[in-house]
Amino acid sequence: MSDPESHAFENVDKSKILRAGVRGRCPECCEGALFEGFLKFASECQACGYDYHKNDIADGPAVFVILAASILVVPFALAFQIKVDAPVWLTLLVFIPAIIFVCLILLRPFRGLMFAMQVMNNAAPAEYDDDDED
Ligand SMILES: [Zn+2]
Repeated sequence: MSDPESHAFENVDKSKILRAGVRGRCPECCEGALFEGFLKFASECQACGYDYHKNDIADGPAVFVILAASILVVPFALAFQIKVDAPVWLTLLVFIPAIIFVCLILLRPFRGLMFAMQVMNNAAPAEYDDDDED
């Protein structure tokens, strides 16, 4: 049984929706802008009117971005520390800004991707009905 409020994404190319999210486009129509600032979501799609407030990804993408940035940068920091035999303060001085830079680059596409996944899967916060208690 399908929810009449849900979108029928079964017959839609899901990779197109995910690519739209990564590119910062509306997952509903793949045309309108998803962001109105660097990381702030717009209130609704300018092309199709989809209300972006229906979905909330919170800080979920930040966790994945931190993991990805660490996987990308830490090996270079370790290699730099071992090969150059640099003092720890120099390694930190070079690679902490590098991790921050990589996080800033990855955060927007990850936010768009996670938002598109949430829309595509009709994910929503759990709702509890107090009338069902025994
Ligand atoms: Zn749209």
